[in-house]
Amino acid sequence: MEKWHSYDFKSCNVSEFGSPEDKDSVEGRRYAFGNQHFSFNVLVSDRIGPKRELPTMAHEKCASLTYNPKLSASIIIVYHNEAFSVLVRMINSLFDRTPAHLLHEIVLYDDATEDDLVIEKHLRRYAALAGWNQNKLKTVHAQQREGLIRSKVFAAREATGDVLIFMDSHSEVTNNWIEPLLQAIQDNPNQVVLPIIDVINGSNFEYGKAMVAKAGFNWRLFFEWEYFPWSYFDDEENHVRLFESPAMSGGFLAVQKKFFHEIGEYDLGMEIWGGENIEFAIRLWLCGGKIVVAPCSRIGHIFRVKRPYTGIEGKDTHLHNSVRLAKVWFDDKYIKHYYAHDSRAARHDPGDLKERLELKKNLNCKPFEWYVENVYPKLKPARHSEL
Ligand code: UDP
Ligand code: MN
Repeated sequence: MEKWHSYDFKSCNVSEFGSPEDKDSVEGRRYAFGNQHFSFNVLVSDRIGPKRELPTMAHEKCASLTYNPKLSASIIIVYHNEAFSVLVRMINSLFDRTPAHLLHEIVLYDDATEDDLVIEKHLRRYAALAGWNQNKLKTVHAQQREGLIRSKVFAAREATGDVLIFMDSHSEVTNNWIEPLLQAIQDNPNQVVLPIIDVINGSNFEYGKAMVAKAGFNWRLFFEWEYFPWSYFDDEENHVRLFESPAMSGGFLAVQKKFFHEIGEYDLGMEIWGGENIEFAIRLWLCGGKIVVAPCSRIGHIFRVKRPYTGIEGKDTHLHNSVRLAKVWFDDKYIKHYYAHDSRAARHDPGDLKERLELKKNLNCKPFEWYVENVYPKLKPARHSEL
């Protein structure tokens, strides 16, 4: 028996456990605890345990590609209140499915997890038992909650690999996930590369394949998938070929570290959650970068129906962050269009934007109209009367 089997997951992270049917049983309490703090069924995750097999998820044609990446990656995982068994399985999947020479380090950045849910000590204990290469595991504990956007920037600044790969803390990688990402950056260091994000079901933890799709957004500045017509896949090569995407969902991306810092990281004035992915996408396209999807790289993510953690009392952080991005990047015509779709936006005070406007100037970015015309024509208002 491998050592990690002797580790009792249930002794971590919680003082109490729970059962789905019997609310007072150990399982009920554990189930309720998971729902409350993580918005997924942590009981099922605990039972699956620290490792599981996942079949190759990439299209069969991907096996015929050859990669020769010379870069190594810092995996950046920021988290606030994450379930122990979920994070352990994620890290095992990273160690087991990433060639050692491509994995520079994993930066595990705890964005001030609530006291009862802190798991760092348990992780270190598990790491020793499981024989993780602890030289490659950097843990940082933030003194105060900053939200995922500033946390990602601070975590990225701690990283020393050639490439940063950002990931949510409730994911599992599949075979050959990293090679297509690193190769694409090696071929063009100014492109941000996205994997396909498969769906781990938060109720039963089954792994399901997602459609290969582009990412975009609507006029309330919420992220949306942009699906291909079926005919796109008539050409088999399109299952493996990189394709451009106007935007990104935000949780998963690979970017050359140097380029990430030069192009302005994320906006440190953005709070907790939302909008930074759209801002980054627009900035990339306008200021000398681009976004591509590598369909042979597949990572599973638990999409949650609600976010279980606290935000900022009385503040819609997505709105706040979106107004910041709109006031930096949209010209008159498009900002009016945004305001027409969200009546709160025009009145919202986004705070100081000086640094971001300066960045835009220093990077010599193209006007937003260029993005609409060349990258995301769907954004064009359908009728002029809408403006
Ligand atoms: N996160 C964080 N600080 C926060 C909010 C979120 O570090 O204040 C982390 C969270 O634990 C996760 C990532 O940021 O690893 C993305 O958050 P979430 O999964 O809630 O976003 P979603 O996938 O729903 O967009
Ligand atoms: Mn997530």
